[in-house]
Amino acid sequence: MKEKKFSILCCALAAAFAAASAHAGASDVQCETVIVGAGGAGMRTAIALKEAGRDVILVEKLAFAGGATNLAATYMTVVGTKEQAAAGKVLSLDDYVARQKKINPNMNEKRIREVRGASQETLDWINALGANITRAISDYQVGTADGRSLGSTIVKAMKSKLDAVGVVPRYETRAVALLGDKTRVTGIVVKDKTGEYKISAKNVVLATGGYAAGQEAIGKYAPQWKGLPSTSSPGATGDAIAMVEPFGASLKFMDVVRMNPSVYSANGRNLSLSAARAEGGIMVNSDGKRFCNDYYTDYTQLSRWMMEQKGSIAFIVIDDKAMQKSKRLQGFKKQGVLLQSDTIEGLAEKMGVPAANLKETLVTYGGYVRDGVDKQFGRKHNMSIDFTTPPFYAAQTHPGIQVTLGGIEVNDDMQVLNKQGKVIEGLYAVGEVAHDGLFGTGPTAINIYYGKKVADHILKTTR
Ligand SMILES: Cc1cc2nc3c(=O)[nH]c(=O)nc-3n(C[C@H](O)[C@H](O)[C@H](O)COP(=O)(O)OP(=O)(O)OC[C@H]3O[C@@H](n4cnc5c(N)ncnc54)[C@H](O)[C@@H]3O)c2cc1C
Repeated sequence: MKEKKFSILCCALAAAFAAASAHAGASDVQCETVIVGAGGAGMRTAIALKEAGRDVILVEKLAFAGGATNLAATYMTVVGTKEQAAAGKVLSLDDYVARQKKINPNMNEKRIREVRGASQETLDWINALGANITRAISDYQVGTADGRSLGSTIVKAMKSKLDAVGVVPRYETRAVALLGDKTRVTGIVVKDKTGEYKISAKNVVLATGGYAAGQEAIGKYAPQWKGLPSTSSPGATGDAIAMVEPFGASLKFMDVVRMNPSVYSANGRNLSLSAARAEGGIMVNSDGKRFCNDYYTDYTQLSRWMMEQKGSIAFIVIDDKAMQKSKRLQGFKKQGVLLQSDTIEGLAEKMGVPAANLKETLVTYGGYVRDGVDKQFGRKHNMSIDFTTPPFYAAQTHPGIQVTLGGIEVNDDMQVLNKQGKVIEGLYAVGEVAHDGLFGTGPTAINIYYGKKVADHILKTTR
């Protein structure tokens, strides 16, 4: 009995010692690279540096890893992968780039070619960690095999790898300031439960995500959207933007945000139902009518169209064919998010929309799906539901702020630039915090690619 007590005491002391050495409390420390933010971009950089045997500290202000990456609902943007080829969903890089430039003429063509050209490498990397993101949704989208949430799948896979290579994030540790001067950054100041301390480093990587959930930052940089709910992580408050401003960093396109046209709000929670549209769902207004191309790829424009409808709302409507395909939709059903009926008339009654209108909308759209042409609004993607398979489901949605697309200006290696276009030495920004010229066209894939590229640059330049 005595022996057992002694061994329990030893285990407890060992655990306490391990925790203490993993985090030395409020005393200053040094490392080669400190990464701020344990989301997709930050974890990718940390994994690559640690795998190469480098000295890394990863700080995260929340009590868990993943940030907004955890919330990425539906698809990774990739083109020309073998998964897409096998499903007959083929698109050349040139055609993809032309499509993107048409949507956004400010897009950095060199970088979009670079990132999308590495689509297969990106997908293979995350799948080798067990993610199983193999289902070709369209010629530019790949999702999890069983329709599970994309983001939590990515985070689970990356976090296991982070554990395996031995990076232990310092949780509940918020970076509050940069050290150094306007030409070179030499570390950060962080704050945790025990107080403030400095982390001196040759390289500081800001991977803090965007500011979609920061009402103050939205009010300052994108005031036209202020007051709308956000679907992003509570950590997405734009801390790094305030940290780099005194260092003269250039900020670009700060007013450009991506809205989510499919936000369901209840009990103070904002949930993205984008997956329902990706699985083929359509949007109808409170008259039971479609009002736009409901898979238009510019979500902010979709939100604008939605805000022109009565009450600035729309309903997403799906049938059981979509439900059967997707674990995520099954999850929404379990959470009580969806209205449900065996008949279109019954669903219309629950939605409070005219039944005759809804019936006409769904029957007409079903014909478009069978013919492969949306004669009304020219929808081109994810036309898979013809509304012949009951039960039918709907949810009332409104727009919300999802992703911020402007940020800290960076060069091709994600080094931060000042307002004169010169590199601020020792400082990188990667992920949603950066304006990398790609305007968030598939952030989860961009982060995997550029997170590694930051690490490669550090490996090359820091001895
Ligand atoms: C609802 C929703 C659906 C989406 N759907 C998709 C999708 O289908 N496909 C897709 O590709 N993308 C999607 N996105 C976008 C994508 O998830 C994000 O843009 C991307 O994952 C951001 O990754 P990141 O690593 O830059 O930031 P994050 O993952 O947000 O990580 C940043 C981390 O930094 C931490 N942090 C912030 N400030 C500090 C500080 N001062 N000190 C320490 N830590 C700090 C945060 O807490 C967070 O953990 C979606 C986003 C949302 C919100």
